[in-house]
Amino acid sequence: MKIICIGRNYEKHAKELGNEIPKEPVIFIKPSTALNLEDEFYLPQFSQDIHYELELVIRISQSGKKIPVEEAPNYFKEIALGIDFTARDLQSQLKKKGLPWEKAKAFDNSAFLTPFKLIDDLRNNQEIKFKLQKNDAIVQSGSSRDMLFKFDELVSASSKYFTLEQGDLIYTGTPEGVGAVKKGDILKGNLEGDLNFELKIK
Ligand code: ZN
Repeated sequence: MKIICIGRNYEKHAKELGNEIPKEPVIFIKPSTALNLEDEFYLPQFSQDIHYELELVIRISQSGKKIPVEEAPNYFKEIALGIDFTARDLQSQLKKKGLPWEKAKAFDNSAFLTPFKLIDDLRNNQEIKFKLQKNDAIVQSGSSRDMLFKFDELVSASSKYFTLEQGDLIYTGTPEGVGAVKKGDILKGNLEGDLNFELKIK
């Protein structure tokens, strides 16, 4: 199983980090050891600036490669919420030097994930709204409508380079409002009342 992640897929988020709006999806990968299905996240020692990025996650339902956009809907049926934890300090250093950013993005437990729901069972699967609350404040609020590249395009674009296998995950990018977490914080996420999670930062 691999975890495909999309960067800069919401215009306002790309801008908040000072990045250009991409003309094609920005793609990177986390290994399966990044997956975190627990309700706790332990801050790694190598960073002083771990950021949350709340994202919609789709799961690949059958193998495929070079999938045309029109056929992409046949390759995913389920959705979950995930957090793409990022060591922002380390990522900034690596980006400045033009180096790969895996150490800042693909470390152990950096891919938090909730259980999945069928997309067909969501109350509104045309506009999937999701929110993240840190302690008492709402910090991120997104909608699938604001994605620069939609699910179908992401499946198609990723499959140009990587064979998609059943069970692979695609983290589809984060809306604006990313920020740091510290020990003791509680992150609460929800997908329009269809899915909820509570994650403790340790
Ligand atoms: Zn992300």
